Amino acid sequence: MSNEKDSVYIFLKKDLVPKYGQCNKYAIDSTGSIWIRADISEPRKAYVFAHELYHLNDKSKHWLWREIKATIAGVVWPLWGLVCVLWDFVAVKERRDFLVDRIRKKY
Ligand SMILES: [Zn+2]
Repeated sequence: MSNEKDSVYIFLKKDLVPKYGQCNKYAIDSTGSIWIRADISEPRKAYVFAHELYHLNDKSKHWLWREIKATIAGVVWPLWGLVCVLWDFVAVKERRDFLVDRIRKKY
């Protein structure tokens, strides 16, 4: 995923009801923000974060196409992120050394 924004702010807000989350592309210092409701479960928060993060960088005009893409991204990107993290244990020396150290010292 390419993130064109400098940073993402996360707010846990109850007053988004009935929405679970919302993104604002230029909310704070021309950077993006993501708001996530505080009263939803952690798995829902993780999904909503991935969904809204996609919206933050999407330039599509049609609302339905935007929602379809963000919904797919909410499912796929966490899995892709896991693949990348696992790959880093193979490809990045400091991550590989960290893993080996954890296995040897059992922490
Ligand atoms: Zn959406």
